[in-house]
Amino acid sequence: MAEVDFKQANENYAASFGDNGKLSIPPSKHLAVVTCMDARLNPEQFLGLNLGEAHVIRNAGGLAKESLRSIIISQRLLGTRDVIVIHHSDCGMLTFSDEQLRSKIINAHPGDSDVSEAVNDLQFGPFPDLDKSVKDDVAFLKNHPLVLKEGKITGWVYEVETGKIRQVA
Ligand SMILES: [Zn+2]
Repeated sequence: MAEVDFKQANENYAASFGDNGKLSIPPSKHLAVVTCMDARLNPEQFLGLNLGEAHVIRNAGGLAKESLRSIIISQRLLGTRDVIVIHHSDCGMLTFSDEQLRSKIINAHPGDSDVSEAVNDLQFGPFPDLDKSVKDDVAFLKNHPLVLKEGKITGWVYEVETGKIRQVA
């Protein structure tokens, strides 16, 4: 595996940090973004967001359900209102089923009942249809009693092939 020189990279970063240490905690654009952890996505760059402007909440797939805890904290304690959900083309979540991943993990630990019990309790949340997964997640947030209704909740697909986003909900 390739070594990454985090320390050197960070020294370069900190050398031009400027006034960023004075930013306040609440995001200045009152925006929360929910998106995938995919290494090809740089949401701050493709949405034109600077430090201090938005919460970017990431997980495998950019699933709203898994982001709920963070969205509630973001809205209730840190003043965000609009939420945008962004899933993307060629996502790993389109490539497997819960059952396949469970079997893979169980097969890697033969006879380990702790592993099989733990993995059978987990839902990994893969989705077969990209646009539908975005629409479902937006509907989930719009219908959730703990998500504030005064902001806009929209859904988008990011194309890893072009860097473009398109609105689907
Ligand atoms: Zn993804």
